[in-house]
Amino acid sequence: MTEELFREDATLAECEARVEAVDERGVRLDRTVFYPHGGGQAGDRGELVLPAGGVVAIADTRKGEAPGEIVHVLADPADAARLAPGMPVRARIDAARRRAHMRFHTATHLLCAIVPHQTNGCSITAQYARLDFDMVEPLERELLERELARLVDEAHGVRTVWITDAELDAKPELVRTMSVQPPRGLGRVRLLEIEGVDLQPCGGTHVANTREIGKLKVAKIEKKSARSRRVVIEFAD
Ligand SMILES: [Zn+2]
Repeated sequence: MTEELFREDATLAECEARVEAVDERGVRLDRTVFYPHGGGQAGDRGELVLPAGGVVAIADTRKGEAPGEIVHVLADPADAARLAPGMPVRARIDAARRRAHMRFHTATHLLCAIVPHQTNGCSITAQYARLDFDMVEPLERELLERELARLVDEAHGVRTVWITDAELDAKPELVRTMSVQPPRGLGRVRLLEIEGVDLQPCGGTHVANTREIGKLKVAKIEKKSARSRRVVIEFAD
């Protein structure tokens, strides 16, 4: 199990860690700031700084086969020979790229709040965010852009809250207001709250305030199928 420092503090760009296992496919660390591809959000890139100096480039981060396992994918598989179990390293993400993921990811929550329909697909990269809505009605670009800009300008706080299954059972009205239904049976669920705007289960990384998202534009709205509308957003600056 890798300690997931990015869950508690998404602003961490680096950390000290120790290599637990390494092979050509990737590196497992005891703790990490690298977010593994999941929930639509791309995995982090970055580097591991070696104790003797020099760096090993990480091309992607993926969930491993075992629960809680995080694999730092080597850009050059031959670098596996430069690492060994027990070795201390400094794990450092590409912070600018991650920052874009956090801004876009938080923006997808705003879109969920604006469009009152279930989503059935999501992709968050450093260049764009794409969200597929389960709906037949057309969507209007100007309206989406205006509402996104309003919620960004209103500077809503963004925070993580944990809730137990028992608390969820006691508050059915809370579950009804969520745009995505929380998973049950895990004991407790991590929720992402954008104060006064959106509340839904999410394990991704987000900015701390909607104002940090900045200016957005709706790059594309397409009819993906009879029952699905796709919205692609990009940064306007
Ligand atoms: Zn999220």
